[in-house]
Formats: sequence, structure tokens, C-alpha cells
Amino acid sequence: MTIDDLLKVIISYNPEEVEVIKKTYELANKLHAGVKRQSGELYITHPLNVAMILAEMKADRDTICAALLHDVLEDAGDKITKEEIAEKFNPTVALLVDGVTKISKLNFSTKEEEKNTNTRKIITGLTTDVRIIMIKLADRLHNMRTLQFKPRNKQIENAVETMELFVPLAYYIGAYRIKSELEDLSFRYLMPEEYFDLEKRRKLVEKENSPLLREMLVKIQRLLNDKKIPNEMKVRTKNIYGIYKRLTEGDKLMDIHDLLSLKIMVDDVDNCYRALGIIHKEYRPINEKFKDFICNPKTNMYQSLHTTVFVDNRLVQTQIRTFEMDKIDSFGLTAYWEINKGEAGKLMQKDLREKSQFYTSLDQVDSMFSDNSEFIAQVKEEVFSPKVYIYVNGFVYELPVGATIVDLAYKIGAETAHTMQNARVNNNLCDVGRVLKNKDRVEIITDPLSYGPRREWLPMAKTSYARKQIENTLCLTKR
Ligand code: MN
Repeated sequence: MTIDDLLKVIISYNPEEVEVIKKTYELANKLHAGVKRQSGELYITHPLNVAMILAEMKADRDTICAALLHDVLEDAGDKITKEEIAEKFNPTVALLVDGVTKISKLNFSTKEEEKNTNTRKIITGLTTDVRIIMIKLADRLHNMRTLQFKPRNKQIENAVETMELFVPLAYYIGAYRIKSELEDLSFRYLMPEEYFDLEKRRKLVEKENSPLLREMLVKIQRLLNDKKIPNEMKVRTKNIYGIYKRLTEGDKLMDIHDLLSLKIMVDDVDNCYRALGIIHKEYRPINEKFKDFICNPKTNMYQSLHTTVFVDNRLVQTQIRTFEMDKIDSFGLTAYWEINKGEAGKLMQKDLREKSQFYTSLDQVDSMFSDNSEFIAQVKEEVFSPKVYIYVNGFVYELPVGATIVDLAYKIGAETAHTMQNARVNNNLCDVGRVLKNKDRVEIITDPLSYGPRREWLPMAKTSYARKQIENTLCLTKR
């Protein structure tokens, strides 16, 4: 891969920025001159590949420039400073490069106060510009793709860190494609035997089922074309780690109905529902497997209709969405890069602030802990941790596994929490200490005359946010 390959992609969507990007490359090349990677290649191939991953997502100019320069502060810091990058390019590029440099010093497992202070700055810094996360994810992706050149202990270290930190990050900003690839690459180094075994078995299933899916694809496509619905269709295969997770949950390979699925993309939301009707008319659906993530998006903003149907006595999952939803699914919020040039960065940032529960959770934890190691412990426990998704009045709330109704009430708002009496979970009356299960439907019963919070709620609160709110309010009322 060379600079010309990169420029070719840039020309395809952003021809006016080719010169700046070329100039940036030349500078990066000069700064990394003479340095080689463990693979024996010149160092510059790394930033070049990182820029390429981002260019394939149609990233904006500043992101591409920052990707090309992302390692210069760390590796050639004696030749260039952040201020000089700001002068030569612009302050945004400098900010992005600086942000990416700082994340690489992120350390989740240290006890040293100085490092903890730094880790905190980095984590909270993540929310200042989502492009920093995107560059870092592309950087990690390329490093994971070339991990075979590292010693075994480094491979494991990197794979663990990727699973703990970068996979959740990719998930939270909705970049599924990167998340899946990072998971599979990590899994391959952590459990090579299982990985290669599953890869083989997946291939067999693919081979066995793909004629059926092809046939279905052609048929549905013809029906959509007959109705003049613009469409594009793909057969999608579940990633290997995703399959592994299902197997550890006790499913058999044959039970994983979405191992192969049919992805149907159409031009607008109305046509998603028309396509759904067309499919259900042709193939009998299983009612309980139908999911409408268009009206009820996931907490990371994922949107699609999922329906599982019978095809010749076998089950096939179909996913119906608009072209735009599909872009967001593949690239997360960076899809906006294409949809809204120029203002893209700001729009992505605004969307995250308003819709991403990951961002709200980070902000809440940040505002509550002055102690840095406590902050990091909480982020690890509450933000980068498995979640349950709870329905309240049509909205979905994201909470860490183990959270109770007390936690949910505070997540909804202090007013709800402080007037809470008990709750109904899936129509059954429950006590507020009840631990929530994924997909529970909850109705919190309040009484404006009821006086809360109560001291006995404290041990029931799993999230630090709920605990602090209860403590603070109890303190105030004592006085
Ligand atoms: Mn790098």
C-alpha cells in the first residue's frame, strides 16, 4: 500500500483535499524516516494504513491528516510539537493528534496516582471529539491486523486490552464492523484453537446454506423490483466471536439462526415496512423473533427491522434497513462524514451528547468522583461492562448487569426516584430491590406524597450514581 492508493480513495469522495493530504504524508514520512516496524516494513506504512481505514469510511480532511500524523508526537517528539502541528495545519488536527497520543498511554490496571490522573483525563477527553476515538480504533485495528509480528506475550496483552477497552468503545459509538473485526482478531490470539475450529465449522454452515440464501435473495429482490422499491441485498455472516459467545451461552451451532442472515437495504423508512410485508407474505415469520429497532433504536443508536422466517423448514434471519442506517451500522457515527461534510464533526458530537447513554454515563461518573482511582474503578465497573436493557414506557435504558429498580429510577430522574413506592416488572408487582434482567418491562409506581429516598435503598443501589444521589439527599434532610 502506498500514498497513491490512499490518494485514489480520497479523490473518489473529497478531491479538493488531495494536495493537503499529500503534503501531510510527506511530512509524516520525513518524521518517521529510517524507522522500521517489527514486520520489517517502513514505519510510515502504519499511519498510511490507518489513514486508509478511515478514508474507506470517507473521513473528513482533518481526520485523515491526523491519522497520518498520529504517531509523530510519540515517536518523533524531538522533531515536532503539538504547537507546530497547529501552525502547519490547523488547531483541530493538532487536537486530534494529541488526543490519540494520549489514549495510547491509557492504562486501566495501574495503581500509581500519576497514571490514574492521566487515564482519567484521557477517558473524559474521549467525549470532546469522537474523531479521536475513530482514529484510535483505526490505529488499533491496523495493529491487530499485523499482530503476527509481535512476540506472544505482547499479542496476548494487546488482545486483552482490545477486548476490554476498544471493543466496547466501538460498540458504544455504533461502529459494528470495526467491533466485529476487533473481536475476531483478539479472539484468534486469545483462544487460537477455538477460533480456528469455529472458523472451519462456520465455513461448512455457509457452504451448506448459501444456495438457499441466494435463492431467497433473488426472489425477494425480484418482488422488491416489481414494486419499484430501490434496494440492495447482501448475505451477512456472523463474526466468529459472536458465534463463540452464543455457544458458551448453551446454544448449538444449528440454533444460531442469524449465523447467516439476509441484509436488505432500501431507500427510506416507509419502504422498510413495505419490504417487511412483502417478506412476511412470502415466508412465514416467527412472531416472537420480530424486532423493530427502527421505532425502538438500541441505546447505541442502531436501527433496523429484524425478522426470522421459515424457508423450506429452516430458519433465516433478515435485517431490513435504509441505506443510511446501514452506513451507521458499519461505521458508527462516522457515517455522518459522508452525509454531512464540513459540519460532520459537530453533528456527530451533538448526536452522541443527546442519544448515547455511554456518554451520559461517563459524564455522570466523572462528576461524582474526585478520587482518580475510584473514578477508573467505576468506569470499568459501570461503563465498560456487560449491560442489561430495560424498557420503560417505550424507552430503552442501559444499565450494568446487577442493577436494581433503585438504579433504574435514578437513571430516569431524581423526581421519579424520590417519589418511588414500588414497581411493576413485566406486570408483576415488585419490591424496589429487585435485580433487573435484560429486556424487563418496568413501570415505576410513584406517589407524590411519598417521601424518599430511604436509607434501606442504599445497599440496593448498584450504580455509583444512584448511591451518591441517595447519600446526598439523606445528608441534606438530616440537617
Ligand atoms: Mn499507531
